[in-house]
Amino acid sequence: KYDTRAIQELDAAHYIHSFTDTKALASVGARVIVKGQGIYIWDSEGKRLLDGMSGLWCMNVGYGRKSIADAVYVQMQELPYYNSFFQTTNAPAAQLAAKLVEISPPQFNHVFFTGSGSEGNDTNIRMVRRYWDLLGFKERNVIISRHNAYHGSTIAGASLGGMSGMHDQQIGIAIPNIVHIGQPYYVEGGKGKTPEEFGLEAAGWLEQKILEVGAEKVAAFIGEPVQGAGGVIIPPSTYWPEIQRICDRYGILLIADEVICGFGRLGHWFGSEYFGIKPDLMTFAKGVTSGYIPLGGVMVGDRVADVLIEKGGDFNHGFTYSGHPVACAAALENIRIIQEEQLVEKVRNETGPYLKKKFATLADHPLVSVAETCGFAAGLNLVQKKGATVHDCVPFDSKLEVGMICRGHMFGNGMIMRAVGDRMIIAPPLVTTIAEIDEMIELIRHCLDATLADLKA
Ligand code: PLP
Repeated sequence: KYDTRAIQELDAAHYIHSFTDTKALASVGARVIVKGQGIYIWDSEGKRLLDGMSGLWCMNVGYGRKSIADAVYVQMQELPYYNSFFQTTNAPAAQLAAKLVEISPPQFNHVFFTGSGSEGNDTNIRMVRRYWDLLGFKERNVIISRHNAYHGSTIAGASLGGMSGMHDQQIGIAIPNIVHIGQPYYVEGGKGKTPEEFGLEAAGWLEQKILEVGAEKVAAFIGEPVQGAGGVIIPPSTYWPEIQRICDRYGILLIADEVICGFGRLGHWFGSEYFGIKPDLMTFAKGVTSGYIPLGGVMVGDRVADVLIEKGGDFNHGFTYSGHPVACAAALENIRIIQEEQLVEKVRNETGPYLKKKFATLADHPLVSVAETCGFAAGLNLVQKKGATVHDCVPFDSKLEVGMICRGHMFGNGMIMRAVGDRMIIAPPLVTTIAEIDEMIELIRHCLDATLADLKA
């Protein structure tokens, strides 16, 4: 049905891939993905892969949901598009706004729609600055973010993000008035401390930065509840409550970037609920439609909405595809599925705890120093030599690219697992069953053995 070579040639000749060395890829040929069902995808050669990454952290309800395809088809015939600029709305957008308010924490009664998570974070910046301006504090426009954070690929998203690889590649990429603090990564910074002590210390960096910048200039702090693209960085339990306390103390807006954590990934509708914090704004995308159609946005808490709406007049911001009726129809069906199949509760009470238990068993492998999960996001560290504590382990020389070797074995053996340096991560679809978790863990163990054998050879 598919001529793999022909597609690869077209791809190599014309398609610049995201976050990829396009020239190097062209020399080997991209794998052509043609089909998905449940937690599996197939390539054009008929090879099946267990999608341990839910696409890019988005395929929450799994592939092949006919009811989402049907909802999209029906909406496309009825009204494929209309905008929300001309004092107009559409039924799916209004209904989805109400649905999102229903499933969000109580402080959220409004939503702003975008086409992606990056646009959502751009929206956050504009909204936060507008908020403080309307209150008469124009100079309060600095946003504090974190190193190794990922907040998207637009200039503003990449500036908010703390990915050195992105900042390095484009001289002057960062927009002004965004500053960064360290990430709450215990393996990296917690030597000699308990995780709880380190969590408080890492949150304290926010207070230090506020005092350094001047509290009267700081508008907001943004963070992913669990840093995803940075390598599933799960903060100690003390971290987020302390961040909340600091934001409250200085009156700073708290933005949770829920693009990955939202829609059930951590066993709650939103990651901030898992950590017990009360953000003023929440960015969402990905899981809102399970990736079936692009859609993103910002949940706007009452503190911001009251000012923006009551005092703001026109908010001069928006996208052609804000409130796209077809995307909103897909999201409504996706959320209906999550609710009907109780996927959030399953991850919280059943499959999430099971994954935690099974994933933790990988820590006995000679290559693995830490194997940890938070809901349906998991990461394990590959080390050259294990030690008495995670901080006494000897890491591999990064030039060996051990993570990539392991990833290669995973792909070769039929499972997608991502490597962030030597930290291997998964974030499987929320529909993954107990039997499928067993299959994943077995495959991972097998590929750890294969990696070890390679290193010894
Ligand atoms: N924020 C987070 C936490 C993300 O993980 C991502 C994408 O991976 C984004 C924002 C950007 O979303 P998008 O790729 O839809 O622009």
